[in-house]
Amino acid sequence: MVIIPREKFINRAVRIVNPSIITLKMWKYRYKNRAKKLIATSIDAKFPESLNLSLSAICQAKCIYCPSERGKGIKPPFMPFQLAKKVVDEASEENFQGIVRFSENGEALLNKDFFSIFEYCRKMLPASRSVLYTNMALVDKSTGRALLANNLEELNFNIDGASAVTYEAAKKLDFETFKKNLHDFIDSRNKLGAKCRIHIDILTAQKYMAMVERKRIDLPDDTAEVIKYWKPLLNKSDIISVVDKPYKWALREKMKNPKTVPCRKLSKVVRECLIGPNGNVYLCCLDYQQKCVIGNVINNSIKEIWSSSRRKTLLRFLGELRFEEIGEPCAFCLD
Ligand code: SF4
Ligand code: SF4
Repeated sequence: MVIIPREKFINRAVRIVNPSIITLKMWKYRYKNRAKKLIATSIDAKFPESLNLSLSAICQAKCIYCPSERGKGIKPPFMPFQLAKKVVDEASEENFQGIVRFSENGEALLNKDFFSIFEYCRKMLPASRSVLYTNMALVDKSTGRALLANNLEELNFNIDGASAVTYEAAKKLDFETFKKNLHDFIDSRNKLGAKCRIHIDILTAQKYMAMVERKRIDLPDDTAEVIKYWKPLLNKSDIISVVDKPYKWALREKMKNPKTVPCRKLSKVVRECLIGPNGNVYLCCLDYQQKCVIGNVINNSIKEIWSSSRRKTLLRFLGELRFEEIGEPCAFCLD
């Protein structure tokens, strides 16, 4: 006799009857339960688990999946050293041992103060984990070596095509520059014996257009070629992953559909503190124009913002699917 677990049994029964409304109801029910637990464990945390510094609201790439309005209107476009220092100093007082991400919604290396901020942070927060997201266009040999010398622990970027044609269609960045930069970075890492982990995501233009915009474009999906070329050059601890559920955030403004499904980012929202170039602490990394602001680190400490009633209310609304009451971006979020 085959014993089917209760949950599986219900799922099967629902699939047979198949009213999609019931499935959506179950999804929401499960989300609310999970959200309740998640929020309960983090709502009273005194300090975030990670600090995500948006050192730049500008990016020289134009990825096919990135909203065209990203960063528009954010002033100043680059986080000044003094502001980053205030954040790092407070984290140091708290003996912060979490993750510092040096980029959010823009190319951090365009900030002329990048290395001053990076070095200061490494000095003041030696027990933190340093993570950089970049498009790699500016990670030339000397920049790569400087990142490794300052003990960068994780480098994240996308390779969205195996040839100049597919890569440039996806990102509007020069493929040969990218290729040389990555070869040099891997080479420097090997020579220095540095521990920096490389994390690569792949989302080709063809795949994105087919999955999100439901359009066919006349380009191959060369994901397999990307893996075939780069995987043998990587270490065992590196990650190369294929994006199989792309974000739909680039369509949000165009569609303006009221959100009805659960929030995809809740587990990150409860842990990560995102700080814009102007000091605004905003709710979610998909809020590319920082519309949902919780506070500002120029006026308040991170600790105050993190335990504020505004943050708690927003989390509660997210957990209860009350997106309209939050306003933008959640009210029209497609993810
Ligand atoms: S996804 Fe990242 S690299 Fe691409 S345009 Fe947006 S910010 Fe730049
Ligand atoms: S924008 Fe709001 S609803 Fe969408 S993923 Fe972020 S927090 Fe969730």
